[in-house]
Amino acid sequence: MMIRILDKHFVPYIGEEELATRINELATQINIDFKDKNPLFIGILNGSFIFASDLYKQITIPSTISFIKLASYKGTTSSGTVITAIGLEENIHDRNVIIIEDIVDTGNTMFHFLESLSAFNPSSVAICTLLQKPEALLKPLEVQYVGFKIPNKFVVGYGLDYDGYGRNSKMIFQIKE
Ligand code: 5GP
Repeated sequence: MMIRILDKHFVPYIGEEELATRINELATQINIDFKDKNPLFIGILNGSFIFASDLYKQITIPSTISFIKLASYKGTTSSGTVITAIGLEENIHDRNVIIIEDIVDTGNTMFHFLESLSAFNPSSVAICTLLQKPEALLKPLEVQYVGFKIPNKFVVGYGLDYDGYGRNSKMIFQIKE
């Protein structure tokens, strides 16, 4: 079923069940890889709040979670500007950090965030993103956990917005061109 948000139309792309299955797989892998490593999850707001919540509910190993806010994204192309991390007061020193992101597009956001994180001397940093657009990547980024690799088309839903709207959709929609 096609939906409309503001001036754009979107078609169903990744369904609820597919999301749940894949997120369960990611969590299972993280539970194995980070057993006895007491990871600190850092969710990037606003986009990752639903993914982070569903992922974290499946994490069974000792761990903590915190959220920060970075750049804002306007319209349908990445702005490239990154605002400094707000709320990064968590003790990151000697922690194994897992960043939870909604989508890695050009990689600019993640690249700059990794730079600022390294100043806090974490033991390790891994990236867990629900979506990645490999064709759009402009930075040398290693992304350890990717839910779905998707083509270079704008998507909304499940936390991702179009000018603030659409985050509450239970599934992911892709722009209709
Ligand atoms: P990057 O810095 O990797 O280019 O962009 C990352 C940010 O851009 C994401 O956190 C997200 O906020 C936004 N973004 C990139 N592609 C999309 C998309 O297809 N849909 C939505 N809603 N946001 C996107």
